[in-house]
Amino acid sequence: MQHSADIVVIGGGCIGVSVAYHLAKRGAGKVLLLERDEFLGQESTGKCAGGIRAQFSTEVNTRLSLLSIKAFENWQTEIGEPLQYWQWGYCFLLTSDELVASFKKSFEMWKRLGMDVEWWSPEQVAERLPYVNTDGVQGATFHQRDGFGDPSDITQGFAKAARKAGATIENNVEVTGIKLDDNNRRVVAVETNQGEVKTGRVVLCTGAWTRKVAALAGIDVPIDPIRRQIIVTDKFEDIKDPFPMTVDLSTTLYFHRESGGVLIGMSDHSESAGFNDSFNEDFGEQMLVTAMERAPVLENAVPKHKWAGLYEVTPDHHPVIDKLGHLQGAWVCAGFSGHGLMHAPAAGIVTAELVLDGKASSVDITPLELARFSDPSRLHEEANVI
Ligand SMILES: Cc1cc2nc3c(=O)[nH]c(=O)nc-3n(C[C@H](O)[C@H](O)[C@H](O)COP(=O)(O)OP(=O)(O)OC[C@H]3O[C@@H](n4cnc5c(N)ncnc54)[C@H](O)[C@@H]3O)c2cc1C
Repeated sequence: MQHSADIVVIGGGCIGVSVAYHLAKRGAGKVLLLERDEFLGQESTGKCAGGIRAQFSTEVNTRLSLLSIKAFENWQTEIGEPLQYWQWGYCFLLTSDELVASFKKSFEMWKRLGMDVEWWSPEQVAERLPYVNTDGVQGATFHQRDGFGDPSDITQGFAKAARKAGATIENNVEVTGIKLDDNNRRVVAVETNQGEVKTGRVVLCTGAWTRKVAALAGIDVPIDPIRRQIIVTDKFEDIKDPFPMTVDLSTTLYFHRESGGVLIGMSDHSESAGFNDSFNEDFGEQMLVTAMERAPVLENAVPKHKWAGLYEVTPDHHPVIDKLGHLQGAWVCAGFSGHGLMHAPAAGIVTAELVLDGKASSVDITPLELARFSDPSRLHEEANVI
């Protein structure tokens, strides 16, 4: 293994490989990515639903998505690797006055940002999505450029492009320490299970494990792991393609096409923070019942695969993209709170700008600074979390 680098990126999920790619592409010197697993993208990234959408309640999340969607649309030209990507849209079903009011506000913001988003009446929902039980539905929003993409293609694509741009990626390397200078201010090396790597710059892209890794440098980054789970049915053709990612925000139920079947997800709001990622069968039952209530046709679908994974959740459901506290030569890009796949391209672009130029220019990421957690007036909750 290489024992020195200009920049070490820790973590080989979709965020780390995107950050490594964008740093290498910008000629940042010797970029070395360290991943503790045998393969890239096996943690949250490999367990995610693949959803990609711009319909967020805050401007910064919407802007990160729009930058990312542009990158996914230009994937062939920029990355030159295969990407399975379906822009079949996202439809949010709105079932309460509060949701209608909140989405009306967002709708104005989306229009201002140039999004071609549609507002549907309950009758339009019934016509466009005949599989939906419209009981309680007061309206819906639909954005055609939203959709879903393959997490493995995204990770492998960025990794290959990063290598082509000169980055080195090492698997089976766990970072066990972050070494600082005598004044405890500047990064001088990272310690790993395979020895020390001398470096003056390190970027933490460690998802749900970021709090642990940042603690190695004595900094607290409030990102907690929260279990989320998914069920995928056997081949199912009673819902006709192309059907959009369909979301019932009141229950957080969502479903979309996956490998010829239907992928179903939902959040368990009683879940507490922890690294348990075993599948909870009782909650799995609740997911299926809720899915059949909203889309009765799913009664005919047979569950085939099920798994759980970890969201990497911050108190306001926005990532942290910033310097790592007072340290020189350390940054963090993590805590996407369930939106990391869709934000991966933008995350790489703005992190490379932050590290190499001292400031992000593609998106104003001031709302994502670490210091916001010590000032409650700076916390603006993302409302559209599923
Ligand atoms: C069920 C589920 C559904 C989801 N659905 C969506 C969706 O539809 N759309 C979407 O955008 N997002 C979704 N997400 C969220 C998405 O998966 C995450 O936001 C994203 O994968 C985060 O990427 P990451 O690279 O930060 O984290 P990870 O993919 O977890 O990568 C972090 C990496 O860091 C490595 N690491 C940790 N500690 C160390 C160390 N000490 N040394 C070396 N390496 C280390 C880990 O091994 C891991 O590979 C979903 C997540 C789940 C669980």
